[in-house]
Amino acid sequence: MIDFRSDTVTKPTPAMLDAMFNAEVGDDVFSEDPTINELQRFTADLFGKEDALFCASGTQTNQISINVHVQPGGEIICHEESHIYKYEGGGIAKNSGASVRLLQGDRGRLKLDAIKKWINNPDDVHFPLTQLVSLEDTANRGGGAIYDFEEIKKIKRFCIENNFPLHLDGARLMNALVETNIDPKIYAAEFDSISLCLSKGLGAPVGSVLLGSKDFIKKSRRVRKVFGGGMRQAGIIAAGGLYALKNNVNRLRLDHAHARQLEQELNSLEWVDSVMPVQTNIVVVILKDASKRDVIISLLLEHGIRIMAFGEGMLRMVTHLDISSEQIDQTCSTLNKLKP
Ligand SMILES: *Cc1c(COP(=O)(O)O)cnc(C)c1O
Repeated sequence: MIDFRSDTVTKPTPAMLDAMFNAEVGDDVFSEDPTINELQRFTADLFGKEDALFCASGTQTNQISINVHVQPGGEIICHEESHIYKYEGGGIAKNSGASVRLLQGDRGRLKLDAIKKWINNPDDVHFPLTQLVSLEDTANRGGGAIYDFEEIKKIKRFCIENNFPLHLDGARLMNALVETNIDPKIYAAEFDSISLCLSKGLGAPVGSVLLGSKDFIKKSRRVRKVFGGGMRQAGIIAAGGLYALKNNVNRLRLDHAHARQLEQELNSLEWVDSVMPVQTNIVVVILKDASKRDVIISLLLEHGIRIMAFGEGMLRMVTHLDISSEQIDQTCSTLNKLKP
């Protein structure tokens, strides 16, 4: 089976398992797990941040960050299709009692002009206090679209002037950085907090890292405990993440090349209306006939290829380290012969 549903389906390689099996561990609630401490130090240094916190998932790092930055009744500005709003089970309301201002923007990305219009006047008691702006890079619903770094810098300058923090849902941040060649430290300096997934394209089985200042991470550590995320000898899983950061970053470029190969093939097909221009490892296909979506998924499944519905008349294919160049060739040839 060639599984294009998500880059979360990857399994640890023997070398990664070896690193996990041999990991030194301790009680992380006491901050005594040497492997977790190493992963946190390594990631903080990589991004030039003061500190980092290993967490169970990207949802957890995002939700902790929101909880630290925002008071109940405060407002978060984010894209209407952002993961923090759309795919975290209403966690913003449930965990933090916060209000959300949803904005539109090209392929999951916000522009400063849109944000500017929705900063509430803090002196008018009618309005919730704007307390956080959250961006997503790459943007999942935007088909893996990358932010323009100049726009991020403008947004950050505006956040500083208005005195609220800027969070990044960087579940696939490494995909953006290998493509743009922006120095992680220079990029990360624009954000007060960053959530980075180890279990997406990087290929670790579990975990995300939250990055920020010493003070922010200290507060986040408390919230992680309250959310039930204080793990004990979790160095076993952190070792997979550390291995992934040390070994699997540059190979993301291959995933991106694979995604572009799929894009080219798909664009030549008569049943495809268009493909969102591929920027990283996500390929979103818009069908000519929306009603054919599920037939196409079933037909591909018969050929050992798994892909996912991505809303009405849309399909998503994600490339990752468990899909080889041969399998991409095989998929292209299957797609070419498909008669939906
Ligand atoms: C996957 C993902 C997350 C985190 O998801 P988890 O499954 O909780 O790790 C957050 N943001 C985006 C954009 C994602 O794609």
